[in-house]
Amino acid sequence: DTVTIMDIPFMNLTKKDFLYYHLFPRLNRQQKCFVVTANPEIVMRAREDKSYKEAIQSADYVVPDGAGILKAAKYKKTPLQERIPGYDLMLDLLKFADVQGLSCYFLGGKDYVNEKVILEVEKQFPGVKIAGHHHGYSDMDDAKIVEDVQKAEPDLVFVALGLPRQENWIAKHYHRFSKGLFIGIGGSFDVLAG
Ligand code: UDP
Repeated sequence: DTVTIMDIPFMNLTKKDFLYYHLFPRLNRQQKCFVVTANPEIVMRAREDKSYKEAIQSADYVVPDGAGILKAAKYKKTPLQERIPGYDLMLDLLKFADVQGLSCYFLGGKDYVNEKVILEVEKQFPGVKIAGHHHGYSDMDDAKIVEDVQKAEPDLVFVALGLPRQENWIAKHYHRFSKGLFIGIGGSFDVLAG
């Protein structure tokens, strides 16, 4: 069940249903998954940039992150159930990973922010296994970085490189991974690091 806005198909579910009927079962089955949390900026960027649009369209799920997306859907008379902020989704996924003992990789953010995120996760979600982490201010297509994620075989990969980098990175390297939930979460590491 989706609502299409400017060629981007938005999943029309509450956050709770999305997690319980889609993401948690996929994590339990170790089924690979690409999630985009799209705000109006992402939609506008996709309109101007064909390869970025293709990256977004290659995702398994695009969720509406931003009041502007909900307004556009309502205006089209195909309202979306609710806004799903990327930060909230990240926290819910970390809670699930904590309880289930899943492994997570943290890619992106400034060096000190990335380090602080690891400390916060260890403190707030002690059941999470840290599969690895790397800041987002080097050549992200460097084979070393991609291979590090590959070798770690994480259950979840949080990618905080801002747009369009995070979705482009996931779309470009996705075929190399056999499992993992990949999600672009923008500035969420900055918030978690405090
Ligand atoms: N970021 C990064 N590498 C970059 C650019 C940004 O790791 O080359 C990180 C940045 O530190 C922040 C996140 O990506 O944690 C989101 O960045 P920003 O707020 O600039 O992006 P947007 O709000 O446009 O998604």
